[in-house]
Amino acid sequence: MLNHIRPKNVTELLEALDKQYYHVFAGGTDLMIRKRQWQGAERKFDKDIAFISHLDELNGIEETTDSYIIKTLVTQAEMTKSDILPEYLKTPFSQMANIAIRNIATVGGNVVNAATVGDSIPVLMALDAKLVLKNIYGERTLEIDEFIQGKYKTVKKDNEILEKIIIPKVEFDGYRYKKLGQRKAGILSKLSIFIVYKKDNDDLTDIRIAIGAVNEIPIRLKEEEKKLIETKDINRYLDKLSSAINSKDDNRSTKNYREQISKRLVRKYLEEIMQGGI
Ligand SMILES: Cc1cc2nc3c(=O)[nH]c(=O)nc-3n(C[C@H](O)[C@H](O)[C@H](O)COP(=O)(O)OP(=O)(O)OC[C@H]3O[C@@H](n4cnc5c(N)ncnc54)[C@H](O)[C@@H]3O)c2cc1C
Repeated sequence: MLNHIRPKNVTELLEALDKQYYHVFAGGTDLMIRKRQWQGAERKFDKDIAFISHLDELNGIEETTDSYIIKTLVTQAEMTKSDILPEYLKTPFSQMANIAIRNIATVGGNVVNAATVGDSIPVLMALDAKLVLKNIYGERTLEIDEFIQGKYKTVKKDNEILEKIIIPKVEFDGYRYKKLGQRKAGILSKLSIFIVYKKDNDDLTDIRIAIGAVNEIPIRLKEEEKKLIETKDINRYLDKLSSAINSKDDNRSTKNYREQISKRLVRKYLEEIMQGGI
């Protein structure tokens, strides 16, 4: 039998987490699947539960002069409706799951779950997001790529929560987002591509390219992005992308499909961007 707590505030939550293990339950859309073991979900959900969705301290979207701050309980639907956030950040969230799930699924839950198919992760990686983790003794701030170590693996300690996500503000000139799945709504990605860029007249000055749901962790080749700006050599970038793909065939797709389609789409987008498209 599972017990549950509903802490009054974050301090009470952190005190409880310091004493014993709890499954932190935000929207529950990943946790409930784990409990039911649908579709061969790999992990059990067998520990006591700490409900957090009522904690206002962990909710809201804010803006400072240089960052967007997304508190962990912000839902996917709230991301898409925000007056503060730019379109490049809203679009990927509008394509996750379905309306019912988006209304309860949290951004923090997607990140902490660290699924290979977690659609927010490539987006946050491309945007150099930082995560603020908190326990009763203090807090630490990590780059998202330091936080995620593999499929369902993060460096979060059992007594820590994700409090918020900090996204540096950049005035990008354009973006591309493509998510491919077996059908349109409520489907896990076979692959996703997120690109944001800046241009000075026709010259590319910044580009970030993240490919999700292919490898265990999204692919972002930061050095190759710099080379692409210097050399404009799309073929070189695509060769490096091929070498970075190490996915296996699985029930979502094959390695060959992911490699061929991601290269084809990235080529199309880079050609559009470099030839003056917005
Ligand atoms: C029908 C369906 C469709 C879906 N489609 C998509 C999709 O298209 N794209 C996609 O990426 N995902 C999809 N998902 C997965 C899921 O909806 C998302 O990953 C969602 O964002 C998880 O958020 P949650 O609040 O429900 O997380 P929960 O299930 O509450 O938590 C997930 C994990 O994170 C931990 N956790 C949550 N918040 C915190 C916190 N603040 N601090 C510490 N630990 C925390 C929990 O303990 C748990 O381990 C889908 C799920 C369903 C059921």
